[in-house]
Amino acid sequence: MGARDGSDGRDARGEWRIRAAELADRGVRNIALTTVDNAGICRAKTFPLARLAEVAERGVGLSPCFDVYTSADRMVSSPHLGGPDGDLRLFPDPERIVPLAAQPGWAWSPADRHEQDGRRYAGDQRDFARRAAARAAGLGLRFTMGFETEWILRRPDGSSPTTGPAYGMTRIVELADYGRDLLQALAEQGLRVLQFHPEYAPGQFEVSTAPADGPVAAADDLVLVRETVRAVSARHGLRASFAPAFHAAEVGNGCHLHLGLHREGTDLHRDPTARHGLAPQAAAFLAGVLDRLPALLALGAPSPASYLRLQPSRWAGAHRCWGVENREAALRLVPGEGHAELKCFDAAANPYLLVGAVITAGLAGIAEGAQLPDPVTGDPVARPDVPRLPTSLDETVEHFAAAGELREAMGEVLYGAVLAVRRAEAEDFAGSEPERIAAETRWRY
Ligand code: GLU
Ligand code: MG
Repeated sequence: MGARDGSDGRDARGEWRIRAAELADRGVRNIALTTVDNAGICRAKTFPLARLAEVAERGVGLSPCFDVYTSADRMVSSPHLGGPDGDLRLFPDPERIVPLAAQPGWAWSPADRHEQDGRRYAGDQRDFARRAAARAAGLGLRFTMGFETEWILRRPDGSSPTTGPAYGMTRIVELADYGRDLLQALAEQGLRVLQFHPEYAPGQFEVSTAPADGPVAAADDLVLVRETVRAVSARHGLRASFAPAFHAAEVGNGCHLHLGLHREGTDLHRDPTARHGLAPQAAAFLAGVLDRLPALLALGAPSPASYLRLQPSRWAGAHRCWGVENREAALRLVPGEGHAELKCFDAAANPYLLVGAVITAGLAGIAEGAQLPDPVTGDPVARPDVPRLPTSLDETVEHFAAAGELREAMGEVLYGAVLAVRRAEAEDFAGSEPERIAAETRWRY
């Protein structure tokens, strides 16, 4: 449906016009294109619906400099990016244009970024996820994936809109209209909600949606869920924070990644001959991920604030181990539901980078025939033989700087930009008190 793929330009324009008319019938007037930058911030460009056919053909411009922005909007530079030069073209994804239920008159689409001459932009995170999925598909592997979204709500005066206990029904009663509107908006946008519940911290909630068919769709879903939560919250006079650590000394917002592996129609989490149902290839994949978690945190726990959250006894998965239904293990196997959960990641992560990196690590595990160690039962904090994951962004950056496989899979432009942003954010908060880190990142995500 686009001239870039070599199809006939005129036909493509006609199809886009039909598409625009359909969207107009549904009340859409403007479209927001989003990308998520390397600091985990969702950036947007919007245009009137009347321009859809034109934008689908030529794109809208965006500077590549956002790929070296920190979460505080400070531009840094990498070997390839930074400075005022250059322009990329953003294109909507025809498969993923969604009218927004909580923003009447608006639709959203994740953007794909190209160079002006039509080539794929080497720093594009969504394309990295797509390339990783294609490598897995080359081995016959397919993924179901989904994220859990946690957030903390505040009123404009800074107070929590809930008073009841953690996980308490009181909180659902207190925010009944909000919860109803949120679930309705998600459903209208084609997202199938599995659960919505109050979480541990005051004003904290979680929603999980059905696993998507593939990593790119899972990352798109997460962006859509998050921006829908934000929009519904705003309509109820509330602010939503997805920051890893709202307060330094409090349970934070996780963004756990659930994944299931399949091979040629076979569910690799339900092998009747294997322990916990985990077929050898799935076990090797997960072992590869577990081995590489310290470097993967550069994608999944990318902020200095991530390490305020990634603490024992907060169900954040601060230890590098796996367990069956163990909520303190970084990797929790959920045999009853046929998938695994990576708990150590948070909502400052760029989900496209994260899924691409996890697949890269898992495929390396398969290639080397990695073996899962014994699962851990009980609290890993009591096990001196179980290592902690990195406890600071500095430590994670060291692992990432030595991660050759990730570097190769991401390519120099993307890898260099991520490394530059991580180093800059670590430097910006070097020596800062935990509560200052929490305060300065609280409303960035
Ligand atoms: N809020 C916890 C975190 O930071 C997760 C709680 C849960 O298991 O859902 O990851
Ligand atoms: Mg939760």
